[in-house]
Amino acid sequence: MEHYFNLFINGYKGYFNYLWNDITNPSWHSYFYWLIIVSAAFFVLEVVIPWRKKQSIPRKDFWLDTFYMFFNFFLFSLIIYNAASDVVVNLFNDGILSMTGINLKALNPMQTWPLWAILLIGMLVRDFVQWWIHRLLHKSDFLWEFHKVHHSVEEMGFAAQLRYHWMENVVYRSLEYIPLALMGIGLYDFFIIHIFALAWGHYNHANITVSGRLTGGIVGGLIGILIANSLVDITLLNNPTLITQLLTIGGCIAIGAFLLGPFMKMIFNSPEMHIWHHSYHLPSDRRDGINFGLTLAIWDYLFDTAYVPHNGRAIKLGFQGMDQFPSDFIGQNLNGIRKKPEIVFKGGPKKRLPTRKEIDNPVHIPVEGEE
Ligand SMILES: [Zn+2]
Ligand SMILES: [Zn+2]
Repeated sequence: MEHYFNLFINGYKGYFNYLWNDITNPSWHSYFYWLIIVSAAFFVLEVVIPWRKKQSIPRKDFWLDTFYMFFNFFLFSLIIYNAASDVVVNLFNDGILSMTGINLKALNPMQTWPLWAILLIGMLVRDFVQWWIHRLLHKSDFLWEFHKVHHSVEEMGFAAQLRYHWMENVVYRSLEYIPLALMGIGLYDFFIIHIFALAWGHYNHANITVSGRLTGGIVGGLIGILIANSLVDITLLNNPTLITQLLTIGGCIAIGAFLLGPFMKMIFNSPEMHIWHHSYHLPSDRRDGINFGLTLAIWDYLFDTAYVPHNGRAIKLGFQGMDQFPSDFIGQNLNGIRKKPEIVFKGGPKKRLPTRKEIDNPVHIPVEGEE
């Protein structure tokens, strides 16, 4: 046990130094500055090409969500990744080893794979695990109390992505890190995927709407940059000239726009899809939620949880009972932890707050005299 404890403590100690270094030494590998750059880019897009033209700038709760961004993405999420996850992964691996004699870490066939393949598989696995965790956050009444924070957004904008209860960092990061760490992917290796997921999450929540051809071209262009510069173990070009590099990137943009373009909104999540996830009114046969995807949309289409009935530009957002939900950071982050407040039902005695299922099925709401 002391072994795990030391791993935990060392993770934290090392990580505070890492965070400080990340802020004081700007570099291409700095989470802090990437968060600022990506956020500033989406802020400009929302000003220049807004989807909901009447939405104010800054929108409702913009500053609250900006605080959440730095708290959740930079401070909390990375610390949990680094510290708790090491412990979880070692406990998990050692547990399997002692029960079955199988060392999952040592068996990993990806140890000799090129980095691009590891990152691609890592991204798919991570997104798939996150999709299931997100479903669980909606399915479980206990976890839904925490997840309500994210769904308390009333006006959608890029920063809303990172408005979520700190407990979600613990749940997501710990669970998703087990397969990743067993695959041999560390936080540093995962940098590209992590920033890509951050940018795509900003896009899903942003007050913009763009065509699949444009997002396809952007994805193509990013792949083109990796190929042209022989990054992440891609060795297609040998000492290319600048012209060859530019042609490669241009070609990849064209391929992305024309081949991926028509399918982009089925492959990747989008503002037009994710806005429905935040819908106040859910279809009667899908009370546990719709469109759970984070970066990718394919899981929702594969498992039949996709729901985009029409352009949801200005639908009402939130959940039933929102008017009683705290609107400040402290109140929201204590939600789910402290005892649920009691309310008085119309004409009835003091009762606890009804759960989501009880609101949906009024038959189950306790009535006067019922225990
Ligand atoms: Zn959700
Ligand atoms: Zn969301």
